[in-house]
Amino acid sequence: MKNIKDYNLEELKKQLVQMGEKPFRAEQIFKWVHQENVTSFDEMTNLSLELRDKLKQNFSMCIFNIIKKQVASDGTIKYLFDVLDGNAIETVLMKYHHGYSICVSSQIGCKMGCKFCASTGIAFARSLTSGEIVEQLLAVERDARIKISNVVFMGIGEPLDNYDNVVNAIRIINNQKGVNIGARHISVSTSGLVPKIYQLAEENIQCTLSISLHATTDEQRSKMMPINNLYNIEELLKSCKDYIAKTNRRISFEYALAKENNDNLEDAKRLVKLLKGMNCHVNLIPINKIENGTFTKSTNENIMKFRDYLNDHGIVATIRRELGSDIDAACGQLRRKNL
Ligand code: SAH
Repeated sequence: MKNIKDYNLEELKKQLVQMGEKPFRAEQIFKWVHQENVTSFDEMTNLSLELRDKLKQNFSMCIFNIIKKQVASDGTIKYLFDVLDGNAIETVLMKYHHGYSICVSSQIGCKMGCKFCASTGIAFARSLTSGEIVEQLLAVERDARIKISNVVFMGIGEPLDNYDNVVNAIRIINNQKGVNIGARHISVSTSGLVPKIYQLAEENIQCTLSISLHATTDEQRSKMMPINNLYNIEELLKSCKDYIAKTNRRISFEYALAKENNDNLEDAKRLVKLLKGMNCHVNLIPINKIENGTFTKSTNENIMKFRDYLNDHGIVATIRRELGSDIDAACGQLRRKNL
């Protein structure tokens, strides 16, 4: 059966027209699904019983089951969702002073193989559909009874390796007749799939792009992230410059600091050289411990020194708060689970 949440408004209109209905019905349904966040077609009371029946026969509502819910000492909540095919994924809800932010997964498992990330540990199963990405947000809003204001594609998976579904999910979430989250409140993080960065620059969506850089030489980066063997730092930064030029948006570079690996002054100096003159921001992440991981977190002193060096040399840098690390909900700690 087709998942009703996989459709953006335009596509849903086409579906309804094919069923012999008026396009405005699609708007009504889209609102029920994404704004009212109902869990059954029976609740769509401004549709005829006949249409509700037709919808039931053709579409599923895709309502995830919560297998597990963990609350961290800082209030961060990690959900383990049953995605209805025997697989399970994690989604994280974080509270910031400006509102609620959700970290969604884009795939069940990940193919990228980054050495410091737990999502890599278990085999890749498949990409999530647009509707399954959107349902993570809707399921969390239903459960926590809150309205989410920011979405980050920083959960399990490489969003740009599931390009079409991720871009479609952004369009759905962004629609004013749906959950209506502004594109500027949506961030996509990538390990650096260069051709897809060029493609994203052409989409005319104003989302924020985050790049997992993590190192300043190819030798160092290739050891941490195998993707660097395919697209090296120079090619990656070239695509970033193209993205900034075309979208006029600032890029955010993520840099996870690991002790004696990428956290000394030489690294900071090289980073300044690489990013000089770019419209960007550096997000420093104290690297989080993962099972069997070889990297350990830099000392707080080193992290602050690194930040200060960047800031003193014209690169805006901030340290990312470590939310949810006591329940393994922080960056790089999410993983696919088997049921
Ligand atoms: N695949 C995408 C998005 C998922 S990861 C990407 O690579 O960008 C979200 C962020 O967490 C990325 O910047 C990733 O590099 C970072 N990350 C992964 N493992 C981490 C760890 N152990 N500690 C800190 N950050 C980590």
